[in-house]
Amino acid sequence: MRAFPDPNTFTLLPWRPQQNAVARMFCDIQRPGGESFGGDSRAVLKRNLEHLARMGYTYYVGTELEYFYLKDSGGTKKRKEAKPLDHGGYFDQLSSQPASDLRRDTVLNLAAMDVPVKYSHHEAAPSQHEIDLQYTDALAMADSVMTARLVVKELAQVQGVYATFMPKPIAGVNGSGMHIHQSLFQGENNAFFDEDDEHYLSEVGRKFIAGLLRHAPEITVVTNQWVNSYKRLVPGYEAPAYVSWSHVNRADLVRVPSYKPGYESSMRVEYRAPDPACNPYLAFSVMLAAGMKGIQEDYPAPLPIAENAASMSEAQRQALGIKTLPTSLGHAISLAEDSELLREALGDQIFPSFIQNKRREWGEYCSQVTNYEIEHYLQRL
Ligand code: GLU
Ligand code: MG
Ligand code: MG
Repeated sequence: MRAFPDPNTFTLLPWRPQQNAVARMFCDIQRPGGESFGGDSRAVLKRNLEHLARMGYTYYVGTELEYFYLKDSGGTKKRKEAKPLDHGGYFDQLSSQPASDLRRDTVLNLAAMDVPVKYSHHEAAPSQHEIDLQYTDALAMADSVMTARLVVKELAQVQGVYATFMPKPIAGVNGSGMHIHQSLFQGENNAFFDEDDEHYLSEVGRKFIAGLLRHAPEITVVTNQWVNSYKRLVPGYEAPAYVSWSHVNRADLVRVPSYKPGYESSMRVEYRAPDPACNPYLAFSVMLAAGMKGIQEDYPAPLPIAENAASMSEAQRQALGIKTLPTSLGHAISLAEDSELLREALGDQIFPSFIQNKRREWGEYCSQVTNYEIEHYLQRL
């Protein structure tokens, strides 16, 4: 294989010495003969976006990255404890907290690397933070997610702490999601905007939602790819567990933020399942494929729900046709392995290898004896 740097992605690392500076570039992976390598996930996203461009659309994506800063209490890499640095809560403003300067520094460094940050704030759980990246086209955003994760982690290390994007590092408090705001543009026009609709959401937008909802169970293995990802997708922590959509509720899988008059370009669909452990190139590819299927095959648009799906009974959910997201990595694999949509979106090389890798990971996990089992069963008669 050969790595061909993409010169458009050249940028200096601003926190490194400016004399004899250090830069980074993303590379395309090619075989020695020059053909693109089918296992290159960045190339897979590029191919999907080129296909979309031939249909006259551009896919725009905004990303909310949640993560924790944790104390580095020593120990080996495999035996770190998840100890919070602060006990702040949602939108906590105390600048005396050690993490707030760290987050500020991270945002400034990202800006210096041309990764535009829209907002940043303390999240709901102790020591949990969020950085929201201003929407760009999907390829630039996938690169920005990779960059942001690196910068967050690297600057934390410089300060002697560490940052984790593990989806659920601490039981009993919110996990970390990576909500994805999506829209399709035709030239300058946002195809999700419709002036005449009560909620300003177009038919194209509704069909995109229909596609996301119908294919959500099978794409979850890609948007939530770790064993631990499924510890986050449970009711009660603002993460989705059911396949529903609404304009307001934060427990739904899809949320359509209200339209701000004059900001047609910001009409968008937020998909709340993904977590920051996903591969953004593959996650954007499968979300786009699901949404586009809804448009191309004219799926009937489901109605938004007014009530929280998590507080309904199973029978109520069934009556409304609300499905459940996969509840474990094993479950997610079984819903994904025969998916034609995934095979098309990920390609013939990545799709089978991805499923095979995940099966191995799930098998390894299932053969562990966990603390839970020791605590509950070891001493039982
Ligand atoms: N941390 C929550 C999650 O797991 C989301 C909280 C929010 O709405 O920003 O998705
Ligand atoms: Mg958040
Ligand atoms: Mg959000």
